[in-house]
Amino acid sequence: MKNKIETINPYNQESLQTYKYHTKKDIDGILKQADSTFEDWRKIEIKERVNLLENLANLMEDNKEKYAKLMTAEMGKPISQSIAEIEKCVWLCDFYITNAEEFLADSIIETDAHESFISYDPLGAVLAVMPWNYPFWQVMRFAIPSLTAGNVGLLKHASNVSGTAIAIQELFEEAGYPKGCFQTLLIGHELIEDIIASDTVKAVTLTGSEVAGRSVAAIAGKNLKKTVLELGGNNACVVFDDANLDEHLETMIKARMQNTGQSCIAAKRFIVSEGIYDEFLERFTRSVLELKSGNPEDKDVFMGVMAREDLAEELEEQVNQSVKMGAKIVTGNKRHKAYFEPTIVTEITPDMPVFKEETFGPVAAIIKAKNNEEAIALAANSRFGLGTMIFTENVDSVYKEIGNIPDGALFVNDMVKSDPRLPFGGTKASGYGRELSKEGILEFVNIKTVYIK
Ligand code: NAP
Repeated sequence: MKNKIETINPYNQESLQTYKYHTKKDIDGILKQADSTFEDWRKIEIKERVNLLENLANLMEDNKEKYAKLMTAEMGKPISQSIAEIEKCVWLCDFYITNAEEFLADSIIETDAHESFISYDPLGAVLAVMPWNYPFWQVMRFAIPSLTAGNVGLLKHASNVSGTAIAIQELFEEAGYPKGCFQTLLIGHELIEDIIASDTVKAVTLTGSEVAGRSVAAIAGKNLKKTVLELGGNNACVVFDDANLDEHLETMIKARMQNTGQSCIAAKRFIVSEGIYDEFLERFTRSVLELKSGNPEDKDVFMGVMAREDLAEELEEQVNQSVKMGAKIVTGNKRHKAYFEPTIVTEITPDMPVFKEETFGPVAAIIKAKNNEEAIALAANSRFGLGTMIFTENVDSVYKEIGNIPDGALFVNDMVKSDPRLPFGGTKASGYGRELSKEGILEFVNIKTVYIK
């Protein structure tokens, strides 16, 4: 088994740092600390826990350039998008500062008892297995509500963002959270099984691939631990005949290409009604060709490199396989190490990898539908269920489609995006459970019935 991890800048392949993995003894100490911290943390008034969120938000605001640089170095995200990610984490703090007390307050239920209500008690240590694509946001999306609810957090981050994982633990400590409230485990994923099985861990949340999700859910199931799974997606961006391209084309490009295409909720399949197809393809291609690629540290670069060379190779394979099956490249499909050129593919059938698999990089699959009805049917033809976008000027026509979209989200005339105020999560192979909003903070609590006759 490996005992260290080296992080590498995917833009220039330079070594950044080498981290020693935690030993079994280290892990035992971390779990013990989590247990003892939880015993005090759970008794602290919610108001006090909320106050710490203010410190966390201020520290992120003051140090956003530092954290952004670290993420960009570790996984190649364009720096302006890294800064935006930290700003979004600050927004997340602000949202729970305003709402957490109300979400966690006892709720009175009238029954024949003298008094009956629901109380929302923390569970204990929650293990978070997290991906590299939004290295701060994904972690904070779990940690901020979970810790505010009185749980303690254990993070097993993706190995290529180990520096960010450590920085997040230090950030919580600097904000005044008691030692042990949030701890990073530097481990390979082979050790996750023992950690889930330990008495310390009461629940698990995983954001990552379907393979990782299935494995962690199976282990958690065997140990009867609750899970939330935020897995891959293959979102459709449906463009009806009457879509307003002048207004929305830029949003559609962003929906696919931001974060260098490495987003679970990215628009991966553009399903375009025949009546607007030619105009859409011509304008979409022109805009994609204008995207600025380059050094992710440059503020005006929109397309960085992918997070690892092997991920770019995998994407290339999916496109090449689809081309063998009859797909056409309109632009792109050139790779240099971890850089993958923004790519547009057409002439797609549902059996091709670019239609039926998740493409986790800057590849837009453009599919022609005979009409709006066929476009909706093609959109729903997916193993995944994170979200669907519909662009149309006839918003009234969309209401009847809501029930036909079997996903966790439907966005009309905007891209699918996470927003602290709204629940976020998927169906089918995209996982289950919700993050953010009131629903998210209530995932990792004991919803306790209290009945006083
Ligand atoms: P990944 O390979 O599944 O890794 C995610 C995390 O799971 C990492 O910490 C990884 O650890 C761990 N892991 C990998 N294989 C595992 C296994 N067999 N058992 C237990 N843990 C395992 O995913 P990724 O490449 O980092 O991220 C991309 C995927 O995440 C995409 O599919 C994307 O759609 C999905 N994602 C979903 C959401 C959402 O909210 N639904 C958000 C972002 C990303 P190591 O690094 O040590 O392997």
